Amino acid sequence: MAIQKTKRDFPLDHIRNIGIIAHIDAGKTTTTERILFYTGKTYKIGNIDEGTTVTDWMEQEKERGITIVSAAITTFWKDFRINIIDTPGHVDFTAEVERSLRVLDGGVIVLDASSGVQSQTETVWRQANKYSVPLIAFANKMDVVGADFLGTIQSARDKLGANAIAYNLPIGKENDFKGVVDLLTQKAIIWEGDETGAKFHETEISADMVDLVKIHREKLVEEISGTDDVLMEKFLEGQEINVEELKKALRVAVIANKIVPVLAGSSLRNKGVQPMLDCVVEYLPSPQDVTALSGIDPLPQSPLSALAFKIQVDPHVGKLTYIRVYSGTLKSGSYVYNSTKQIKERVGRLLLMHANDREEIDEAYAGEIVAAVGLKDTKTGDTLCDETNPIILESINFPDPVISLAIEPKTKSDQERLGYALNRLSEEDPTFRVKSDQETGQTIIAGMGELQLEVLVDRMKREFKVEASVGQPQVAYKETITKEAEGEGKYIRQTGGRGQYGHCLLRIEPLPRGQGREFESKVVGGAIPREFIPPIEKGVIEKEDTGILAGYPVTDIKVTVFDGSFHDVDSSEIAFKIAGSLGLSEACKKADMILIEPIMKVEVTTPEEFLGDIIGDLSSKRAQILSSEARGNAKVVIALVPLAEMHGYATSIRSMSQGRATYYMEADHYEPVPQNITAKIVESSGFTGRVEH
Ligand code: GDP
Repeated sequence: MAIQKTKRDFPLDHIRNIGIIAHIDAGKTTTTERILFYTGKTYKIGNIDEGTTVTDWMEQEKERGITIVSAAITTFWKDFRINIIDTPGHVDFTAEVERSLRVLDGGVIVLDASSGVQSQTETVWRQANKYSVPLIAFANKMDVVGADFLGTIQSARDKLGANAIAYNLPIGKENDFKGVVDLLTQKAIIWEGDETGAKFHETEISADMVDLVKIHREKLVEEISGTDDVLMEKFLEGQEINVEELKKALRVAVIANKIVPVLAGSSLRNKGVQPMLDCVVEYLPSPQDVTALSGIDPLPQSPLSALAFKIQVDPHVGKLTYIRVYSGTLKSGSYVYNSTKQIKERVGRLLLMHANDREEIDEAYAGEIVAAVGLKDTKTGDTLCDETNPIILESINFPDPVISLAIEPKTKSDQERLGYALNRLSEEDPTFRVKSDQETGQTIIAGMGELQLEVLVDRMKREFKVEASVGQPQVAYKETITKEAEGEGKYIRQTGGRGQYGHCLLRIEPLPRGQGREFESKVVGGAIPREFIPPIEKGVIEKEDTGILAGYPVTDIKVTVFDGSFHDVDSSEIAFKIAGSLGLSEACKKADMILIEPIMKVEVTTPEEFLGDIIGDLSSKRAQILSSEARGNAKVVIALVPLAEMHGYATSIRSMSQGRATYYMEADHYEPVPQNITAKIVESSGFTGRVEH
């Protein structure tokens, strides 16, 4: 593939960082494909049904038909550079969606004109709103039987409370869909055929559409004028407002999230994509428009500030760190300051990622998105900047994992591949953690949701060829203590030959929730020689990791070793390590241990008719309802619910609401598990609660 010669002299206002946002099946992949084709970056149109598209390059995405990774692709349209940041369509990948929404300046939301606004569209639309991402909408699939452009706009207005308004009108529909009328210029655009790259021409509006165009142009003009005082006056006085004035005001209104222009098209039949690209450059914000709001000076000569928003392992170049530069210039081969981690990092090569080639560049300027090779410790959400002008851009918070599952590799070589695979995968996804269970020898992976773990396991098997058996997802309970206690740990074996002698006295006390663990030594007078304190701590930590009550890690605990004894000959590190572990067990058993469980903050959005059922169902799940209020014309219920009760919720909420209610959840905090449930968990854990000697 030829290396694209890049025009490097793009002024900032000629850059657009956008996402194509859609729910599954609306046509995001096909639309992205067409955009890449029309912007000259792909030479052969990929066909999603054959699984050969550019953005969905992961095998697994092809199979599931969903997009999981956010790659960034650079393209060009009419003197503008458009960076397309891939946004996942699936709600379970909240971390992915959030991190991609943070770095894009505007979005094209793809709607399915043949089925109106579906529940998943509501979800992505709401997510975009949360980050005030200016949007234009593309009503796709106008060629499909039942396609209804105005109906789709109406449902966007009704269901989303969005100020969606027709920007153009379809000419013909279903099999006869052949073009669009631009309401501002009042010109018809007709495509001469269905095939990729079909020519199109501008022509006069046909007589049968004149009235319809008049009505909808009037609506659009009124809507635009309503956002601008000067235009409003002209409008009310019946004065002519010219197209330039209207476009200028519409740009301001779109950027302020006051209007969402809607365009008709059919990506599959190659119609309507080019006018949509024109709207991207005309109405969606440049980095300048957006960063002006945040107070960062988006100039190449300003000090560097940049955000790492995605780490991806590329089969050809290794680890890529996707970076959005907010101000200044990022240079290849230079050192940058990672202000989040407070370390210096060397940037190796910088790559602009095109659809099917990558281009090496020396510098990336404010407003640009690049992939860097060679950063070692920079993770998603870290800020890179100039050491003399440190700044921390608002980071992305990744909560502790709340769900885990066990993996057992089949053979020794699978074990090795597993280690490598998990290392790589956890680098890409900051909410994904790995640890190994010392006792069972199993590897435990943990994350934020069932689907996330499922996808990771899949990738591990396919991309890294690890054969392994995988357990059921488990809630990440933790153990903690509720009162102070003391315990004695004695490991003494003195029968013939060299013996073992380790002995310590421990005091434990509860720490506030979320505080983690502490360890301290208050041994005086040499009761235990100093070199044996670290082994005691090691024994304590190992026991804390293994758990005492039911095999879950012990947290929010302070351990103090305050006394003990030793033997000149028989004492050893190992003996004190065992003593530490025994001492902790004994103390914990006197400290009224409890289990604590992750409590999720669940937000359900539902049409009013299902509200009663949904609240009833939540109440049966030990939920605490925090609020229930109207948002637009939907009801939003916010509740705290134990994760253990949320298993299979995606399915049950669908059947309760005919697929119309949606939900998000995120881990909020840990709370004690009720007594009766604790008893069951302890019983099935195989932990007896006895102190092992
Ligand atoms: P995504 O899940 O949002 O990425 O959607 P895809 O681009 O994979 O499209 C889903 C399905 O709809 C595929 O079978 C496409 O061929 C089909 N499709 C996409 N756009 C159109 C369109 O404009 N018209 C018709 N008839 N089908 C389309």
